[in-house]
Amino acid sequence: MSASSSSVGQAEILPLVPCTECGGRVYSWIAPSGVNAGRRMYKCVNKEICGYMRSSDEYRAQLIGSQLLADQAAPVHIQQAAPAPASSVRAIREATRVPT
Ligand SMILES: [Zn+2]
Repeated sequence: MSASSSSVGQAEILPLVPCTECGGRVYSWIAPSGVNAGRRMYKCVNKEICGYMRSSDEYRAQLIGSQLLADQAAPVHIQQAAPAPASSVRAIREATRVPT
């Protein structure tokens, strides 16, 4: 007989989905220091711009909220995020033009 031991689940990595803010790639990492030291975090590659960063719990809630984590058994197919539109750059340029 084998005694069933409940796994801790601390090391689980949730499916990575594109950033909800900018559509950029999201990656997981474990914070080496700071208030979240040792905790797994989920962060957008464009975090400096869009500010997307989630703790494991927040990220899981997001996945469940968007029904991406409804069925663990089924593989989640994620579409490649579209490249960031260049329109944002144009918007900044036009914003600097002050109409007389
Ligand atoms: Zn982002």
